[in-house]
Amino acid sequence: MTSDPSTRLGTDERWCPDRFMVIAAHPDDAEFGPSGTAARWIAGGSVGWLVCCTSGDQGGEDPDQDPFELAALREREQDAAAAVIGYAGVSYLHQPDGALSNDLALREMLVREIRTFRPDAVLATDPETLFHGDGGINHTDHRAAGLAAIDAVYPAARNPMAFPSLARAGLAAHVVRRLYLFWTNHPNAWVDITTTLDRKLAALAEHQSQIRDPEGLATRIRSWASEEGAAIGAAAAEALRLVIIDDDPDEAVGPSGNGPAATAGV
Ligand SMILES: [Zn+2]
Repeated sequence: MTSDPSTRLGTDERWCPDRFMVIAAHPDDAEFGPSGTAARWIAGGSVGWLVCCTSGDQGGEDPDQDPFELAALREREQDAAAAVIGYAGVSYLHQPDGALSNDLALREMLVREIRTFRPDAVLATDPETLFHGDGGINHTDHRAAGLAAIDAVYPAARNPMAFPSLARAGLAAHVVRRLYLFWTNHPNAWVDITTTLDRKLAALAEHQSQIRDPEGLATRIRSWASEEGAAIGAAAAEALRLVIIDDDPDEAVGPSGNGPAATAGV
């Protein structure tokens, strides 16, 4: 999913938000996705919140399994994984797995989450990813969740006249300044996760209902992180598509004391 690291060096992304929100379609998406970034930011002083649009009630292979029991199990696994990463909390929107739709109802739910937690940055799946690179189809829920997250961030969350019942209930409009899209075919920012890769693996291991071969998975995750790290000369990284919605030229220091992003050359 990255560009060829032998021909391109990417931007070593060092900006650190005060508050960030990950919006995911399913339990385990946030761990397979930007959990190394989340753990790094939290270690640097950021406060993170995770929103799961569905509870993964179709994430099994037994047609006789009770989907409500599976959803409850997967929420327990997600809670445990989120605790490993250090999120302040998790919201479950209980939308149907496999049938997630970027409709107004989901957008209002996400605007409610954004206006409640008030993140500087939102991380979500890149909805433009229909296929992963040259192979693999991106799940329809991932695309729907990504689109819904973007549409909630802009313009709805910042527009006081959008979903006016929210503002009347005390949830004032809120400006999200940055979007980081994961599982993207167009990465432009790489976060060094050398120090948090083990935490990512530990969080992934909490999703026991989804993992048949933990050691094989860990090997694959380490390999992918190494490949993505090559873009910035790091041992491990996560590749993201950064969309800066509102830039603040005065901003140079995040809660971790990081300076502005250093460009390694493009
Ligand atoms: Zn998923």
